[in-house]
Amino acid sequence: MEKEQWKADLAKSLRSVQDAERLFPLTPEERAFFREERAGRSLPFQVTEYYASLASDNPKDPVRRQCIPTSAEYVTRPGESGDPLAEQRYTVSSRLVRRYHDRVLFKVNDSCAVYCRHCFRRDFTGGTAGAVTKKELEDICRYIRNAPDVREVLLSGGDPLLLDDERIHDILETLRRSRPDIMFRLATRTPVTLPSRITAGLAGMLSRYFPLWIVTQFNHPVELTSFSINAVSLLRRAGIPCLNQTVLLRGVNDDAKVLSDLFRGLLNTGVKPYYLFQGDLARGTGRFRTSLETGWHLMEELGSQLSGPAMPVYAVDLPGGGGKISLGREHLIRETDGGFVFRGFDGNSYTYPKE
Ligand SMILES: *Cc1c(COP(=O)(O)O)cnc(C)c1O
Ligand code: SF4
Repeated sequence: MEKEQWKADLAKSLRSVQDAERLFPLTPEERAFFREERAGRSLPFQVTEYYASLASDNPKDPVRRQCIPTSAEYVTRPGESGDPLAEQRYTVSSRLVRRYHDRVLFKVNDSCAVYCRHCFRRDFTGGTAGAVTKKELEDICRYIRNAPDVREVLLSGGDPLLLDDERIHDILETLRRSRPDIMFRLATRTPVTLPSRITAGLAGMLSRYFPLWIVTQFNHPVELTSFSINAVSLLRRAGIPCLNQTVLLRGVNDDAKVLSDLFRGLLNTGVKPYYLFQGDLARGTGRFRTSLETGWHLMEELGSQLSGPAMPVYAVDLPGGGGKISLGREHLIRETDGGFVFRGFDGNSYTYPKE
C-alpha cells in the first residue's frame, strides 16, 4: 500500500489551465501561457497537489513563481539557447553526458513530478525521450566498463525517482554489476515536490547501493515542511548522505534572509547545502535570472551570517560547455562591456553576460 500512495498523489497533479484556475485566479501572463499552448507551442506543465498547496494566491509567491508558467517562457532572450551547456557536444552514448574525465551524467528519465519553470534541461524534461530502455542501459554499461577513469555516475533527468522502485533497483544493480567500484549521485526533487515518493522501502533499497548520495533541490524555506523534512529523514536514517543544490532565482530567493533561512534549515535537517547555482542561459528562463553582481553580493552577506557547513559554493555552468566553475573571483579573467570572462575547466575562456 505504502508503495502505491505516491502514484495516487502524482495522478492527482494539476495539468491544465482549468486545474490551475481552481487553485487561484491566474494573472493575464499566466493565462497567456496556456493560450500559447493551444496555439501549438508547448512546454510541459504539471504541479503536484502537495506542491501547489504551498503556493499562495499572491502572483509573487515563491512557490507559485516556480511552478505556474507565464507566457514569458516563450520569449527567447539574446544569448539563450535550447542547449545552454552544449551537452550535445559531450554526449558519449544515448543519455550519457561526459564533460569531465571522472564522472558522467546519465539522463535516466525525462519526467518530473513538478515541471519547474526555471528548468534548464527544459528541452529534455517532459519531452518524448521517456525512461531509459534496456538497450540504452546496456550501451551505457558497456561505455563505463571501457572507461575506467569514470568513477561516478550522476543519475539525473528529469527525475529518476519517478520510476518504480523495481526499475530503479534494476538500473542501479545493472550499473554496479558492470562497474562494482562506481559511485552514484542521484538528483531528485521529489522530497520537495512529491515527498510521499520517499518511502522506507525506497530508502532501504537505495541504501544498499552505498556509496550513493542524494542531491535535492530546495529553493526556498517554505519548501521545508514536515512532509519534506520527513522524506529527507527517511533517507538519512537509512544512511544515505544528502546534499542540496539551490538555483538562485530572481523573485524567489534572491534575498540574503531567505537564503540564510534556507541553508540553516537544510543543515538542521541533515542536508549539506552544496551548490548555489547561477541561472543557466536556457531559453525562456530570463525572468528568473539575476546578475552575477547580485549573486556575489548575496554570497558576501551570507558569508558573514552563516557557519561554514551552511555555505554552498556559488557556481555556474558556463555557457557553451565550459563546465561548472565556482564563481569565486579566481576563475574570473576579465570584465568586458559584454560580460564576465571566466576560465573554463578546459583552460578556454567563456563569457557570462551581464544582463
Ligand atoms: C553538473 C555536472 C556534473 C557534476 O559536477 P560536480 O561539480 O561534480 O557537481 C557532471 N557532469 C555533468 C555533465 C554535469 O552537468
Ligand atoms: S525537477 Fe529538475 S529536471 Fe525536473 S523540471 Fe525541475 S529543474 Fe527540471
